Amino acid sequence: MSTTAADQDLPVVVIGAGPIGLAAAAHLTDRGLPFVVLEAGDDVGAAVSQWGHIRTFTPWRYIVDATAEALLAPTGWARPTTPVPPTGAELVEHYLRPLGALVGAHVRLGERVVAVSRAGMDKMRSVGRSERPFLVRTRRDDGAVTELRARAVIDASGTWSRPNPLGGAGLPAIGEEQAGRFLVGPLPDVLGCDRGRFAGRRTLVVGAGHSAANTLLNLARLAAEVPGTEILWAIRGASPASVYGGAEADALAARGKLGSDLRALVDSGIVRLVTGFAITALEPAGEVVAVVGETADGEVRLDGLHHVAAATGFRPDLSMLSEVRLELDPGLEAPRALGPLIDPAFHSCGTVPPHGHRDLAHPEEGFYVVGMKSYGRAPTFLITTGNEQVRSVVAALAGDRAAADEVQLVLPETGVCSVDAAGRDTGAGGCCGGPTGVEGLEVPAAAHRARPDGVAARGFATGVAGGGAVALLALADVTATDDAGSCGSGGCCS
Ligand SMILES: Cc1cc2nc3c(=O)[nH]c(=O)nc-3n(C[C@H](O)[C@H](O)[C@H](O)COP(=O)(O)OP(=O)(O)OC[C@H]3O[C@@H](n4cnc5c(N)ncnc54)[C@H](O)[C@@H]3O)c2cc1C
Repeated sequence: MSTTAADQDLPVVVIGAGPIGLAAAAHLTDRGLPFVVLEAGDDVGAAVSQWGHIRTFTPWRYIVDATAEALLAPTGWARPTTPVPPTGAELVEHYLRPLGALVGAHVRLGERVVAVSRAGMDKMRSVGRSERPFLVRTRRDDGAVTELRARAVIDASGTWSRPNPLGGAGLPAIGEEQAGRFLVGPLPDVLGCDRGRFAGRRTLVVGAGHSAANTLLNLARLAAEVPGTEILWAIRGASPASVYGGAEADALAARGKLGSDLRALVDSGIVRLVTGFAITALEPAGEVVAVVGETADGEVRLDGLHHVAAATGFRPDLSMLSEVRLELDPGLEAPRALGPLIDPAFHSCGTVPPHGHRDLAHPEEGFYVVGMKSYGRAPTFLITTGNEQVRSVVAALAGDRAAADEVQLVLPETGVCSVDAAGRDTGAGGCCGGPTGVEGLEVPAAAHRARPDGVAARGFATGVAGGGAVALLALADVTATDDAGSCGSGGCCS
């Protein structure tokens, strides 16, 4: 990294004013480092606001960054004391906006980062590279392009804007782009502002995670009120068991009920389930679209659809980083060192060893991807994890190696998520419900290298089976009466 006095005066650029970008801003404030936050939206928390109707599964104490809380306290702000996890909208209103206001002088809204590079140096040049400041190019909504120099860059731009395509091969299905008007995103507000679009219509939900489950349950409530509302559900796997979870055998009754309710909807025919469905094409025809897929029994066509909700997960936008020297896990697109620690193939319940600046580093010195985007395509990211990431990264940028290296991640014990001391998934809980570890699958040593020998990993499981469990435990009897919770407890297992 640059060591000249002039460059030390350059700001650290933070990309994105979501929960993790703003937590980074709090740590930079605390450390007295100059910084600028560049946010594409016209408000902080712009991505979270788009799923504002979804209730998270994470209690406030695991959302609010400790340093942000300490900085906000003198303003009279206090962390909400309710055990009820916030909706996305409440998260923005009660935390991100106050924090955004606190660091507001450093936040530039409506400014989308379109490229990051080194000043006067393309990716191929090595000599003197780390002495050059970063060059960050932005575009405003009116088309104006600006550039600023930075001593370091923290990319906290999330993955919300890059949902996975519907195509079973990871590519957009043939005709998917032309069918754009039928695609409604992973979490439409079916019982709220989008109600009119779905009432009396035929909707296909694609995906086997918590987002899909929430949308299906909400559509079913709508169908009970509005005759003619039809619901189809397509999954790539052979069985919906992981979404159903443990049902009556589940130690957590409310979690089991979510799966049971979905199973009952399928069993009763209210939701028509198509399994083993790998989408190959979308064929718009006037007011409706057909979705075509391959199954074990040959091609299947789902005709006459008014809407398709693709709850198929997200992937990082790496296009703006094409001039940055990245080292990524080839499958997950997370930093290479982090990949094995979060690979959903081995971490079915989101067990996360503590990780900080070292695991997040790239060959490009002074450049970090943090937050949701740091997990690449893995669906198990949690805000708590991101807060610790940026604490470590900012400490490293401040030259406080001791604090940067001492990564700690205090995660709640869910009681449903464990990997035994031999590194084997016990199957006690899966990311999106039920045991999801592959029987007999050995977890590679690299997946647990940050965990002391002999200590079973205990993670903050996500989605229906885990993070939901935290919320449900915290809520206990609240869930039964909390109508707002009917929009779902949110899930990153989309
Ligand atoms: C429906 C849903 C429910 C979830 N529930 C939980 C939960 O209960 N608990 C939990 O811990 N986690 C949950 N997560 C996972 C994750 O913690 C959240 O997505 C969280 O918002 C991630 O924070 P972030 O700051 O990394 O990214 P984001 O919140 O996505 O913020 C990124 C910001 O960057 C901006 N941006 C994007 N691109 C650019 C660019 N090129 N230039 C400038 N700005 C840009 C965006 O506008 C946005 O404001 C959930 C996720 C989803 C989708």
